[in-house]
This record gives sequence, C-alpha cells and structure tokens, in this order.
Amino acid sequence: MLPLLQQLLEAGPVLTDGAWGTQLQVRGLSAGECPDAWNLSHPDRVAEVARTYVEAGSQVILTNTFGANRVRLADYGLGERVAQINRAGVEISRRAADGRAKVFASIGPSGKMLLTGEATPEALQTAFAEQARALAAAGADALVIETMSDLEEAKIAICAARQTGLQVVGCMVFDAGKDRDRTMMGSTPEQAAQALTAAGADVIGSNCGQGIAGFAAICRRLRSATDRPIWIKANAGLPELAEGRVIYRTTPEEFAGHAAGLLEAGANFLGGCCGTSPEYIRALGVALGKKG
Ligand SMILES: [Zn+2]
Repeated sequence: MLPLLQQLLEAGPVLTDGAWGTQLQVRGLSAGECPDAWNLSHPDRVAEVARTYVEAGSQVILTNTFGANRVRLADYGLGERVAQINRAGVEISRRAADGRAKVFASIGPSGKMLLTGEATPEALQTAFAEQARALAAAGADALVIETMSDLEEAKIAICAARQTGLQVVGCMVFDAGKDRDRTMMGSTPEQAAQALTAAGADVIGSNCGQGIAGFAAICRRLRSATDRPIWIKANAGLPELAEGRVIYRTTPEEFAGHAAGLLEAGANFLGGCCGTSPEYIRALGVALGKKG
C-alpha cells in the first residue's frame, strides 16, 4: 500500500484547511490566552472549527496544537500538560473528521530564538520530540511543522517529528526582504527547500506571512529546488487594523482566484492561513473542481 501522502495525491491536488487561530478568536479567544489550552477548556468551540472545515470540503484538517510544545506552554504555566493538550487536540480533530478527512497534527515554532541563545538546539529537540510523540500516540495521520521562520529550528523539529515514523510536512514563512521572499533569517525558498528535503521532510511548503498573491513565485522556487510535493497555505491578505480590530481584506473569491496559478506553479496541497475561514476553503474547493 502507498504511504498516506501518495494515496492522497493520486487523486490530484489536495484541499487542506484554513486558519485556526483567527477562527478561535472569532469564537472568543482573547489576545493573552493560550489557544492550545482551549482543547481542555473549550473543546466544543475547537471542534466547531474542525467540523466546519470538514464540511467545507477539507480533505486534510490540522489540529489546535500549534503552540503545544513544552517551551511555549511553559510561558502560560502549562509546561506539564503537553501530553494532555496534544492528545485532546488530535482527538477533537479526529472526531470532527469522522473518517471524512485526514488529521495532520500541527507543530509550530518554540517562540524562542536559537540565534540569540534564548534556547539551545537540545532543548528544542527535546520539546518537539515530546510533542510529536504525544500527537502520534493520539492517532495523528501525519505531522505538519509550520510557520517556521528559522531553518535551523525547522530542521530540528522535522528530525524530531520523523522519529515517530509518521510522514512530515515542513513549511516556512517567507515575509522578509523587499520582495517578501526570504525567511526572517534571510533564507531563500531554494535554500529552504533544499535544507528541509535534506532533513527528511516528505512535503515542503510555505504558509502565512503574506497574502496569496505572493505565493505563486515562492511556490515555483520551492518546486525548482526539491522533488517533494509542495504545500501552500496563504493568508487572506496582510492583517490590517480597522476600528481596533484585525481584519483581512482578501475575499474568498479573490483567494480562490489564485488557485490555478498556484497549481501551475507546482502546488500539490492547497489551503489557507491567517484570516481564512471555511468560506475560503469552500471557494478553493470549487476552484480545484472538488465537490465539497
Ligand atoms: Zn498564519
């Protein structure tokens, strides 16, 4: 039998999900709150985000575990709840998927800088390995290392995730430089694709950091530097402040209008990041010719 990612890709491009953080904010998550802790305190609201993506046609949904590594949870005094929060996150998404979508568990950055010595590679390796084990044990179908701005940290997380035996998606944020085509640390898409491929990621991608218009060029450059499938999750534009609220101006239809260009640039997995919602995924599904 083919590995999961190849099975999914046999039927053409794969529709993933949209944002979680901004969807939880819509449901009452406040700025200083730990989003991942909602898996324990507000599981119904987290489940609603997951379920609405499945209903919008997502073939792959993620989990509300983006910040559920020990380093980050410790900032909220939740360092001892790593296993519990990650297990709950996978269970919520699996129940919502109910066999209709695969559950790829999310692993985000530590929030600490390796470069300045805020964290050591060993500490990050330990934290990511602990989170990945908890996600795998709870039944995740694959792991997604996402929103990484430092290639070194991404490589550490990918190596830790691979120890579970699950397939691993590795994606970076390109939001720096005059063309928004560099990571915060200055790496190019080509450098990232090569480094993540060498680290053993099964899928290479980019998420967050800018609106969807900038992603075709990044996608093409990732495509040129790796033989792995490409994963793209763009924002619904850049966040803007309007009357004290963060808003994203790209509409679902405008967003979905970029699907053909992204496929042409080599994208295999398509979804959305900050500011996107089930409406964006539904529109993207129509553009991809999915029934939804
Ligand atoms: Zn984002």
